[in-house]
Amino acid sequence: MSELSASATAPSIESTPVETVIIGAGPCGLFQIFELGLLGISAHIIDSLSLVGGQCTELYPEKPIYDIPALPVCGAQELIDRLLEQAKPFKATFHLGQEVTEVKPLPDGRFRVATTAGTVLSAGAVVIAGGVGSFQPRRLSVPGIEELEGHGVQYRVRTAAEYHDRDLVICGGGDSALDWTVALCGKARSLTLVHRRAEFRAAPATVARMRELVSEGRMQLIEGNVAAVHSDRSADGVPRLTGVVVQSAGGRSTVQVHADRVLAFFGLHPKLGPIAEWGLELEKKALKVDTEKFQTSVPGIFAIGDINMYPGKKKLILSGFHEAALAAFAIQHHLFPEKRQFLQYTTTSPIMQKRLGVSGTD
Ligand SMILES: Cc1cc2nc3c(=O)[nH]c(=O)nc-3n(C[C@H](O)[C@H](O)[C@H](O)COP(=O)(O)OP(=O)(O)OC[C@H]3O[C@@H](n4cnc5c(N)ncnc54)[C@H](O)[C@@H]3O)c2cc1C
Repeated sequence: MSELSASATAPSIESTPVETVIIGAGPCGLFQIFELGLLGISAHIIDSLSLVGGQCTELYPEKPIYDIPALPVCGAQELIDRLLEQAKPFKATFHLGQEVTEVKPLPDGRFRVATTAGTVLSAGAVVIAGGVGSFQPRRLSVPGIEELEGHGVQYRVRTAAEYHDRDLVICGGGDSALDWTVALCGKARSLTLVHRRAEFRAAPATVARMRELVSEGRMQLIEGNVAAVHSDRSADGVPRLTGVVVQSAGGRSTVQVHADRVLAFFGLHPKLGPIAEWGLELEKKALKVDTEKFQTSVPGIFAIGDINMYPGKKKLILSGFHEAALAAFAIQHHLFPEKRQFLQYTTTSPIMQKRLGVSGTD
C-alpha cells in the first residue's frame, strides 16, 4: 500500500504562494496532478486522511474495478498506486492528515487555503476533488463523550507510545481495532477489547492471535457496547477518563472497566463539512459546475469527481478523469490568460515528454 506520510507536508509558512491547490487526494485529485503537470502547472494536494486514495483506499482497496479504460481489471489500491506513479514526474507537494477548512478569495484574485494543521497557502486556482466529503471517524455515542475526545478518548493512533503503561479499552471489530489490539497487548498496562458481536471483520490471522492472547490471560474480550464513560478532573481542571461501562450484547448485564485510554475504531463516514461553507453554489449536496471548464460559481475554483454536479453527471472514476483534463486547460487559461492554448499529444510533444522525463523513443 502506498503511504505518503503526513511528514511529506511542507512546513507551514504563512500564505505560501503556489500555482494550484487540489483539495482531495482520491483518484480524481491524483489524476488532476498529472493533467496539470502535462501543461506545466504545479500542484499542492491536501487530504484529511493520512493516506492518499479517497474511497478506493478507504472503502474498497481489495476490490477489483472493471471499468477503467484499457485496464480490464484493476484492484482499487492498485489503481491508486498507478495514478501516483503516473503523477510522480510532476512532484506535487502532499499535505496529508489535514482538512481544508477555509477557501477564501483574496483581493488580488488568488485564494487563501487554510487547513486544520495550520498550513496556509495562497493559490492561483483551486480544484476541489473532495468526493463525498472528508472522511470523519464514527464517534462513540455516549453522553459526555465530547469533552473526553482528545482527553483519553481517541479515534486514531498518533503515537503508539501514548498507550504504553495505560489501562486501555479498544472498541471495534475491524482491521484497525484488531491490529492495534495485537500490537499494544503487553505494552498497555491492561487491555480490553470491546466488540458488539462474536464475529470480527478483521483478517482471520489477527483475530486468531487476539483469541490466543485472551486465552493466555494477557487481555480480555467483552462482547457488548460501551454504554457510558466515567471521568474526573485533574488539578488544573482538565477532564480525565477513568473508566467505561460496557453493556453486554444481550443488554442484560453491565461490566465496569477501569480505563484511562479508549481507542474506538468504528470506521469513517464522509462529511461534506467545510466545503458547504465556502459560498459556492450547491445542487443536491454537490458543487454546481459547467461542463466546459468544470468551474464552480466562483471563477478560479474548479470541482471534479464525485463532488460536482451537472446535467447527466455520473459518479464514476472515468468521468472524473475527463473532468480533470478539461479543468486543467481551464486552469491554464485562468492562470495565464495571455498564453495561446493548443492541444498537444504526449506521443509527439517534446515539451510534454520533457515534463514527463521521457524521450519520444521510450
Ligand atoms: C464500494 C465502492 C465500489 C466502487 N466501484 C467503482 C467502480 O467499479 N468504478 C467506478 O468508476 N467507480 C466506483 N466507485 C465510485 C468511485 O470510488 C468514486 O467515483 C471515486 O472514488 C470518486 O473519486 P474522487 O477523487 O472524486 O473522490 P473520493 O475518492 O471520495 O476522494 C475524495 C477525497 O477528498 C478528501 N476530502 C474531502 N473534503 C476534504 C477537505 N475539506 N479537506 C481535505 N480533504 C478532503 C477525502 O478525505 C477523500 O480522500 C465505487 C465506490 C464504492 C464505495
